[in-house]
Amino acid sequence: MNLILMGPPGAGKGTQSQLLSERFKIPQVSTGDILRTNVREKTRIGQKARAYMDRGALVPDDLVVEMVSERLGDADCSRGFILDGFPRNARQAEELERTLLRGGKAIDAVIGIEVERRELVRRLAGRRVCRKCAAAYNIIFNPPVNMDTCNKCGGELYQRDDDREETIEARLRVYEEETLPVTEYYRGKGLYGGINGIGIIDRITESIIEAIEERRGNIKVAD
Ligand code: ADP
Ligand code: ADP
Ligand code: ZN
Repeated sequence: MNLILMGPPGAGKGTQSQLLSERFKIPQVSTGDILRTNVREKTRIGQKARAYMDRGALVPDDLVVEMVSERLGDADCSRGFILDGFPRNARQAEELERTLLRGGKAIDAVIGIEVERRELVRRLAGRRVCRKCAAAYNIIFNPPVNMDTCNKCGGELYQRDDDREETIEARLRVYEEETLPVTEYYRGKGLYGGINGIGIIDRITESIIEAIEERRGNIKVAD
């Protein structure tokens, strides 16, 4: 199953992608996570991307498109993948289609997690992320068992540089101007299903699965 999870910053794309990845045994491909790893390791991509990320702007398409094309070519993506945070504008959506076509693949469903702005700001301000496995926590809504430590892997939790108030505003603006139109593009193709992203995390996973099934018929769940 080839899936795209969309939604504004803070909607829960990362949280839900990780859960769906465990459930369906297909990898999560998060451009944000890959970029942050590159920044941390000071790679060529990381050095180019950093300034854009710090001010909440999109990293240039060429860089991200190349990164995703390479990643989707890996063996573990052959049975399916969950794209989290890509595509984020029209050009990336077109390039993705080209890449998939070349590999004889297609997108099965695009699920949009819908959350209102005020809630997004609250979530992002309290977000903490694991340095090791990129799991997201929230100091108010989804606290870790032990302060500053990841429940899953024991990694250290940190606050992302771009989860500051000014940068959050910039990212929400970019979402509305560039990414929201992409959801309309997928709606036009009959691939898009929007779900309410407010509520208990596990319930939201269930509504995502229902929305996928509506688009795809019954999906096989690995146990
Ligand atoms: P969030 O999930 O909070 O929206 P991400 O981790 O997906 O944030 O992205 C963090 C930053 O990484 C973005 O603000 C942007 O600078 C960069 N980024 C991630 N994905 C893309 C993409 N597909 N195209 C361009 N930039 C991206
Ligand atoms: P995204 O990848 O879309 O930016 P995340 O998955 O990182 O979003 O979640 C953003 C923040 O909101 C994190 O702090 C996360 O723990 C929290 N969060 C995720 N889902 C929910 C939910 N259903 N209710 C409340 N907080 C949530
Ligand atoms: Zn962890």
